[in-house]
Amino acid sequence: MKIMDGNTACSNIAYLFSEVCSIYPITPSSPMAENVDNLITRGEKNLFNSTPSLVEMQSEAGAAGALHGAALTGSLASTFTASQGLLLMIPNMYKIAGEMLPVVIHVAARSLATHSLSIFGDHQDIYAVRPTGFCMLASTNVQDAQNMAAVAHLSTIEGSLPFVHFFDGFRTSHEINTIKELNREDILKLVNHKKINEFKNRVLSVGSKKQFGLAENEDIYFQSMEARNKYYDAMPDIVAGYMDRINAIQGTEYKPFNYYGAKDAEHVIVAMGSVCDTIKLTIDYLNTNGEKFGLIEVHLYRPFSRKYLLDVIPESVKKVAVLDRTKEAGSNGEPLFLDVLAALDNKDITVVGGRYGLSSKNVTPGDIAGIYTMLKDNPKNNFTIGIIDDVTNLSIPSETIKLDSKTEEIKVFGFGSDGMVSASKDLLNIIHSETNEYAQGYFEYDSKKSGGVTISHLRFSKNPIHMPYYVENPKVTVVTKLNYFTKYNMVDDLLENGILLINTNQNETIINNIIPNKVKERIITNNIKVMIINADDIADKHHLSGKISKIMEMALLHLLGHDEAKDALVNGIQEKFKTKGEDIVKNNIEALDDAITSIKEISLKLTIDEKIDDERNIFDIIENRKGNSLKVSDVLAIKDGSFPSDLSKLEKRHTSLKVPAWNKENCIQCGQCSLVCPHAVIRSFLTKDKNEGIPLLGNEEYNYTIKVSTLDCTGCGLCASICPGKSSNKALEMKDYYPSDVKEYFDDYKNPDVINKYTIKGSQLQKPLFEFSGACAGCGETPYIKLLTQVVGPKLMIANATGCSSIYGGSAPATPYLVPWANSLFEDNAEFALGMKLSLEEKHNRIETIIKDNIDKSSADIKELYQKWLDNRNDYDITSKIVSELNSKDIPNELKELLTYMNANSVWAVGGDGWAYDIGYGGLDHVLHS
Ligand code: SF4
Ligand code: SF4
Repeated sequence: MKIMDGNTACSNIAYLFSEVCSIYPITPSSPMAENVDNLITRGEKNLFNSTPSLVEMQSEAGAAGALHGAALTGSLASTFTASQGLLLMIPNMYKIAGEMLPVVIHVAARSLATHSLSIFGDHQDIYAVRPTGFCMLASTNVQDAQNMAAVAHLSTIEGSLPFVHFFDGFRTSHEINTIKELNREDILKLVNHKKINEFKNRVLSVGSKKQFGLAENEDIYFQSMEARNKYYDAMPDIVAGYMDRINAIQGTEYKPFNYYGAKDAEHVIVAMGSVCDTIKLTIDYLNTNGEKFGLIEVHLYRPFSRKYLLDVIPESVKKVAVLDRTKEAGSNGEPLFLDVLAALDNKDITVVGGRYGLSSKNVTPGDIAGIYTMLKDNPKNNFTIGIIDDVTNLSIPSETIKLDSKTEEIKVFGFGSDGMVSASKDLLNIIHSETNEYAQGYFEYDSKKSGGVTISHLRFSKNPIHMPYYVENPKVTVVTKLNYFTKYNMVDDLLENGILLINTNQNETIINNIIPNKVKERIITNNIKVMIINADDIADKHHLSGKISKIMEMALLHLLGHDEAKDALVNGIQEKFKTKGEDIVKNNIEALDDAITSIKEISLKLTIDEKIDDERNIFDIIENRKGNSLKVSDVLAIKDGSFPSDLSKLEKRHTSLKVPAWNKENCIQCGQCSLVCPHAVIRSFLTKDKNEGIPLLGNEEYNYTIKVSTLDCTGCGLCASICPGKSSNKALEMKDYYPSDVKEYFDDYKNPDVINKYTIKGSQLQKPLFEFSGACAGCGETPYIKLLTQVVGPKLMIANATGCSSIYGGSAPATPYLVPWANSLFEDNAEFALGMKLSLEEKHNRIETIIKDNIDKSSADIKELYQKWLDNRNDYDITSKIVSELNSKDIPNELKELLTYMNANSVWAVGGDGWAYDIGYGGLDHVLHS
């Protein structure tokens, strides 16, 4: 038994079967390509005793083109992708299927960008390639991701048709679980080498005297399409045959469709993907309590085999609910529902369809129990689960059920890049190897690049764990940031007599003041032990500043009664830092000792005065991780993907315990600190208050001051490091601070225009129109984008390619821009921006026409403004002033409406990696790069 995630389990097999891999990375499939790359670097051999060739292309369209070329010249080829990446492969997928090439595309299935982007999992992408002619095989869990990968590769060789093998993005691709590994020798015995030779002889080679991809006409195109039918007819038997052979090796029971549940069930769910494991658990529980429910788990989705479906469905079934993890708006039903409906058309069975789990929405046993109740009582078509739809009233309620589980659960709240996710993964490995227990880990992220909340859901059990949903009753909850208690409810699900471990540098009294009464009440009434540790202090003491993850890991192992696991941690440290010197190894090991001895228990008491900020709006609700509670009616205003801008200033994430402190005596007023700050946290201001700051050099009217929005500071230290200071004495130093001291908003400050904005110092006196983004601490891209907003100003409109810059630039709800901004896709950025530019230009032309039509019949004052506008049409600084004057005058309504577009007449395209292009008339007028 070994523990690994779904991406690794799948790509280990893909490696064995591949001679060529052409790739382009896209979340959450990228680790599969990375794994193949690593195996190549290590010189591992595939099944054919060679090392595959790997090429990273310019896009998924390119990867599909290379895949096609490699296969057509006789290589067993594979690739890995998701979401839009898979959609970009569609044209080549039709070609590959039409030419009957043995290719496998492994997909970590993910949502598509519609009203918004989502990196999380559902089946929208795989459904979109149904018509390409690829066969489609679904995996339910990490074990399947390995086994079905083998079935896909074996079947594509045998059946001469390409495969999409898919599993749920993040839920399966990134879940760590304990699996039985397939052995290379066992797989090799299953490969049909004769078929491989036939394929290689059939396609292009030197001297093959063949052409592929000709143009055909009405005379033969149609018949050729039909001539491939028998290969699709044969494929279900081929797949079933290889499933049987894998079953013999692995002790599994795979079939194209698997039935689970009561043999005499009347109510059955049909589904594919990870939800099947949740349904099985729910069936076990409900059937033990007297019900007779069942599940049909779909593995072979294409070709859809009615024969294999009818083979497994019990004669007793009266009602079926089909679950689709997609939304096909405007259709008569989602794809799997329509397939099942057609397959059961001559049976006396009621079939309804419903949607679930879009963008990795958690699906619980309670949600599944709700479906069975609905089926029994009143079957409802087109239903949804996991949300409250109070607008079209399609949702059905979830039920409260508690499964009897002997599984031990742990929950770890960390923040992005604090190392707690890696520490949790390490913990799974250590406990699994120490105890031989089964382990499962799932890691919940928000899409911030760093500093966002991470939640590690860990489970341990003596039995295999198939629970693809969040931990529901942890025995231990770990919190690495005390201020999370002011925002999130983290103990609601903690078991009675459980343990809460908090990393904090505060004492018992302050902790009592910070944790809200309602949280303390739950802790006290459930006899939860509260333990604290100051991991930051231990790290500082051992010269490991900021590196708290191993310390927290040791503390958690200690609380779980696994002190003996320290040896494994020590071994890991020795291995990891063996090239870094003995001191580093020694410091790390001593920090582990301190972790055990420094844990203290504290007691919490209810306090009298407690001030809890009310949740004010949708922003607060999402920020406080309660977005799942929002009803459909709550999100009507953002249904089209629009979101109010300028909300990041409300976030106040408090990610750093150290912030820059300004020593004005040493400041030379250069503005460099503000220029390099990636998050617009440190800024320079001019004031007439002579008690603040220092006299402005060259202009006695003002004083110059530096301000820091401390709760937004990421502690990167770039400002202090660039600060030249006076005579080598820096004017900025990173210092500890206490968060409740400061809550700085910059909105009230406005600088006079007294210094040229095209100088460093002057630019930094301009208000940044991009602030407090979700970029990583020390980001090298964001200072350039911030500077762009400062020098171009409010006339700026941004078209942002999908990538790092669109995630830190536009992750709901903390929007960091104060200028119009939009993201289309990764690959259409310049074209998207050009469309905006053309549109704005058209409106400017229309303004000009209306002005020219009206100028002669206008009053003298309006006429003067019109003329000024015509003379300065492309100079925003002048026309913006004219616009505000014109708006108060009696001018045509259409003109008034059009003039609002004057606020954005400079369109810039920002690339995924921070490149920025000015979309001007001569192409790219200015280019800015990080
Ligand atoms: Fe900005 Fe980093 Fe300085 Fe904080 S430490 S003010 S984020 S540059
Ligand atoms: Fe003053 Fe240092 Fe900032 Fe320059 S970098 S403005 S010297 S604090």
